[in-house]
Amino acid sequence: MKTLPSGARAIPEQRPKISMTLSDSVEHIKGVGPKTAASLEKAGLKTVKDLLYFLPRTYENFTETTQLSEIQPGKVVIKGKISDLTTKRTSRRNLTITEGVIRDTTDAIRVVWFNQPYRANQFDPTKDYYFSGTYDFNRGRYQLTSPKAQLASDVEKKPASNFRPIYSSKGGLKSENFQKIFETLRPEFSFIPDLLPDATPGARADALFKAHFAESEADVASARNYLAYEELFELILAAKLNKLENQKLQATQVPFSPEKIRALVRKLPFRLTNAQRKAAFEIFKDLEKPAPMNRLLQGDVGAGKTVVAALAAFAVASDKKQTALLAPTAILATQHAESLNRLLAPFGIKTALLTGATKHKPELKQRIKNGEVDLVIGTHALLTDDTEFKHLALCIIDEQHRFGVNQRQKLLTKTVESSGKAPHLLMMTATPIPRSLQLAVFGDLDVSILNELPAGRQPIKTTILSEVNLSDLLYPKIREFLAEHQQIYWICKAIDDNPATETKSVKKQTEKLKTLFRTARVEFLHGRMKPEEKDSIMTAFSEGKIDILVSTTVVEVGVNVPNANLMVIEDAEGYGLAQLHQLRGRVGRGSHVAFCYLVTSAEEPSRRLKELERSTDGFYLAEADLKLRGPGEIYGALQHGAMSLRFASLTDSRLISLASREAKKFATLFAKAPTTLDDFPELKSSIKKYQQLTTLN
Ligand code: ADP
Ligand code: MG
Repeated sequence: MKTLPSGARAIPEQRPKISMTLSDSVEHIKGVGPKTAASLEKAGLKTVKDLLYFLPRTYENFTETTQLSEIQPGKVVIKGKISDLTTKRTSRRNLTITEGVIRDTTDAIRVVWFNQPYRANQFDPTKDYYFSGTYDFNRGRYQLTSPKAQLASDVEKKPASNFRPIYSSKGGLKSENFQKIFETLRPEFSFIPDLLPDATPGARADALFKAHFAESEADVASARNYLAYEELFELILAAKLNKLENQKLQATQVPFSPEKIRALVRKLPFRLTNAQRKAAFEIFKDLEKPAPMNRLLQGDVGAGKTVVAALAAFAVASDKKQTALLAPTAILATQHAESLNRLLAPFGIKTALLTGATKHKPELKQRIKNGEVDLVIGTHALLTDDTEFKHLALCIIDEQHRFGVNQRQKLLTKTVESSGKAPHLLMMTATPIPRSLQLAVFGDLDVSILNELPAGRQPIKTTILSEVNLSDLLYPKIREFLAEHQQIYWICKAIDDNPATETKSVKKQTEKLKTLFRTARVEFLHGRMKPEEKDSIMTAFSEGKIDILVSTTVVEVGVNVPNANLMVIEDAEGYGLAQLHQLRGRVGRGSHVAFCYLVTSAEEPSRRLKELERSTDGFYLAEADLKLRGPGEIYGALQHGAMSLRFASLTDSRLISLASREAKKFATLFAKAPTTLDDFPELKSSIKKYQQLTTLN
């Protein structure tokens, strides 16, 4: 922890001991009356800790003012006199506009407030004020819009207030209210207990103090650095402790039988890649252990994850135990069921499909319960309470980022109930997770990576096309493809036409393509169709009975039609990078050269599209995406809110590796009795929120 700034600046000296703890209700704070306490609670700030971690949204810096002759658009603080104030009422929605002119010795600018008529009488035109706000172009001219104002002599009287925190309004409380509350707390920050082992004593109190009473940008930066570190440490520690907990659970040990496996491998229509062999081997080794496997199989689209899953299910079935494979869509589940059945049936392994559309569900569920089915492939329908297994030893989750923590949890509790043992878990994902994130997000998982595509794959040739070039550059290519009996995906954003937007719709585009390519068989697919309709279209497409499939992104995950080698994505700017990469992964799954056309109406294509044009490497693109837009929604666990980090950035790999090193060191303490987390009560209560997150067993 030496790299963190130490608490150089003074928190007021320890005063007579204060009996307050972080978990106390905000009512305990001296000067916070019942009314304020109620408002704070309403804002979700229930405890002293909640309040202390409610940091200023930004800071007003009166120490650096801009002369009006130098003013640039953006956030500004200026000092000057105000005059010519008038208030008008607009006819529209009863809005009041108060306008005036601010002058300093160099120039003058316009100032405007909306719905703050009191501003007209607030100022003494002979006195100087500080104004802080945004100077921008609005209604045809530059102006300072709704600035905050302070009498200059007030500000200058108290030098400490030249740099002032601004809090978001919350629960009916304004920034000024929060400032007042923190002023009353100010002498008492030293009560804040340390959190992190090994940190400089008082580091946490100091950081929080600096955040609320910053005197400079440097204070803010150092406070944020500590808090970000603390957050990452907690997250990573929680993951590591989960892993230790996981080790204590009992799982069904599945013996590894190389002869049996070899028999299956010989039956495959292709040679496994080295990466597939290695991943499968890692899984077999895990399945043998008495503690449950907790493994993430990461492989770019088309890397061949399904066959690795099949090998794992085969090992389990050979030992007369059951496997459940959960897929995010019915289309994908159906396809998995077909291909896995084809592969495994010759070995006497019984597979079954369970989706919302499955007929005779009660009978099927009975067979699952009796243990007559070895491998059940299904969608969320698998998660209902009445689906019970005789001896479920392995859960496989395909496209795991599509599922929430709760759904995964559900699948696993189900197993524990049925066998008294925790299941082995294999999660598969095609969303490559940059290394830095992996550590923080999935620190408790073992990871296998398929970093090699099956031999003979050709990179997908990706081209950005402007709307205006379609008939010259795209349609001839389509005709060529159709003549060769190769199939085409045509992706549209919308299902129906919407007159308000120009977004291409599946239905309209289907009609258009039918007239453009008269001999082609064109059909459409989208998420609002009935499951049976979707299945029959998808089946027809995979049997080559449809030439052009016009579809929304429902084909995005997992489906596999090796004869489809051209994809057109309309309105490509409307998708994220990871999603486009995933979509594009539907083509190029055989040995043919495949093409992807990204259609855009933008004059200058976005960086996203250019990156896709440039690379087909999912790991490279994931890094690029991370840089372009931050970790955002790309990552499963993050989608579910619980993990939204408040201070840390998951792109800060330096801080992540520092936190990881320290958390790892700390976690080793717990491997040896008698140390437990109970010895660190602050930390224990603090990491509780993360423990749910990556726990899988
Ligand atoms: P993903 O990793 O995207 O789930 P799939 O498991 O659907 O990929 O596999 C994509 C395609 O590659 C399938 O047609 C599959 O049969 C084929 N495939 C898998 N492994 C190999 C291999 N080692 N050699 C050749 N083709 C393979
Ligand atoms: Mg897949």
